[in-house]
Amino acid sequence: MARIRLDGIRKVYGRHVAVERLDLDIADGELLVLLGPSGCGKTTTMNMVAGLTDPTAGSIAFDGADVTNQPPHHRNIAMVFQSSLLYPHLTARQNIAMSLKRSGLPRTAIAERITEVATVLDIGRLLDKMPSELSGGERQRVATAKAIVRQPAAFLLDEPLAALDAALRLILRSELVNLQKRLNTTMIFVTHDQTEAMTMGDRIAVMRDGTVQQIGSPDDIYNRPQTLFVAGFVGSPPMNFLEGETASRDGRIGFSAGPMRAMLPDAYLGAPELGRRVTVAIRPQHLRVQAYEAADALPGTVFAVEHLGKESVVIFDAPGQPAKLRAIVEPGFAARVGDRLHVVPDMTQAVLFDPITERAIPPR
Ligand code: ATP
Repeated sequence: MARIRLDGIRKVYGRHVAVERLDLDIADGELLVLLGPSGCGKTTTMNMVAGLTDPTAGSIAFDGADVTNQPPHHRNIAMVFQSSLLYPHLTARQNIAMSLKRSGLPRTAIAERITEVATVLDIGRLLDKMPSELSGGERQRVATAKAIVRQPAAFLLDEPLAALDAALRLILRSELVNLQKRLNTTMIFVTHDQTEAMTMGDRIAVMRDGTVQQIGSPDDIYNRPQTLFVAGFVGSPPMNFLEGETASRDGRIGFSAGPMRAMLPDAYLGAPELGRRVTVAIRPQHLRVQAYEAADALPGTVFAVEHLGKESVVIFDAPGQPAKLRAIVEPGFAARVGDRLHVVPDMTQAVLFDPITERAIPPR
């Protein structure tokens, strides 16, 4: 087990800054997810924690001991990648045993450990197969077994499920969390999949262009996004953005966008300057769709309807709004492309952003 701290980490490749001002403090036994789009610096960060890449600046400590200049084999960590390498000429059992080669353990102890991890990962029947005889998911399980058999201080998992089909990902992600909780081993898990991040992480660090945009629990990230990027990245579909202006109205704070007039929660009273442009972010489940006009409704034209079985998503173009709007409706909701409808946001659920800084405007 290990507490992992990154302080002021920076990584530059030539002129390209891959990671900038990165501070992370990962508690012993915590599962931290690094979430972000392709190229945001997730793998670079992992490689620095593992010791495979040197940071340009900053320091990394495990349990208070500086490991910044320590080689990977002094860090007692285990890594699993998107397509982890197994030796093709060795069986699954021999592959796993390779991890314990330098452990000095007697053969019988090694055999016992392998049986133990095989039970944990339910791969007993695969142990005598060659990697070429295993499916993708089975190979990832064996690779995971190979990683945990050493009983490392921390696991670093870099998109270990990315190459698998959706059904298998679903199964393996809960298995990985279950395993991590039972072993109580610190884990850093990299993914670009926000659902994976939300379902697995004790905390999530959302990255963009080499920096952490926000770090917090899944509840924080989902309900209290700090930047427009986080609001637009997390959730399926993600938050809608309504561009408009605030104005004082009867001692309360109003919001207008085109013909729509609505009230913002009183918690925002005195927070944003009145009369200034704001972006209201609102989840698709908090937009109501109706056929008739209303003062607090935004008119829109149906662009597409997506049927998801338990619900449908209606996608709108609204005049004056740069981004399309998405509303979740009942599965039987009748709407066709080109229909003119009206969208009413539930402003009690609104999160306000400054469109210039792209940062959340904190309520009072
Ligand atoms: P993905 O999800 O696609 O794997 P990522 O978030 O893991 O992306 P990184 O692989 O960490 O991103 O890359 C971050 C940035 O650094 C990218 O712009 C990438 O092109 C650049 N980069 C990564 N490794 C190198 C390298 N060895 N030399 C030069 N540039 C690199």
